[in-house]
Amino acid sequence: MKQSTFMIFKPDSIEGNHVQPIIERIFNAGLEISHFKAVIATPELIEQHYAHIADKPFFKAIEDFMVKGPLYIAILTGEDAVNTWRGLMGATNPEAAEQGTIRGDFGYVKNGQVFNMVHGSDSTDNAKREIELWYGKDVTID
Ligand code: UDP
Ligand code: MG
Repeated sequence: MKQSTFMIFKPDSIEGNHVQPIIERIFNAGLEISHFKAVIATPELIEQHYAHIADKPFFKAIEDFMVKGPLYIAILTGEDAVNTWRGLMGATNPEAAEQGTIRGDFGYVKNGQVFNMVHGSDSTDNAKREIELWYGKDVTID
């Protein structure tokens, strides 16, 4: 089914010059990229986006990391977009992510902190929630 999902290029993907190869993988998977823009996030926005991990011990480091420079955000649209993008991303922990996935190929763990390059919504409900959170009510998906 054609659907949309939300993605973030986290600062590690931008600093590591991985944006172009990641975009190539997105196109090669048949997904369209729209609403691409650079954003400087506030701690409040990151807390809302990552509400499900905001009470974890590692959250402060993630929050600091996500607000320290620009992020690129985008909407991906295509067949089964949520799962297609999650498949391209690979597992959360780069050390567990398979080779050939973005996190498996570009991600790493340093001093116990996970650097996994990209975000992707994990369900269509969360895609809707995250798109409204990051773009406001003017941008909606089906
Ligand atoms: N995260 C982490 N350690 C963990 C779990 C999560 O550093 O044990 C970070 C990581 O950056 C991850 C984000 O928190 O991408 C959100 O966690 P989630 O479980 O939603 O993983 P994702 O959906 O990004 O695969
Ligand atoms: Mg998640």
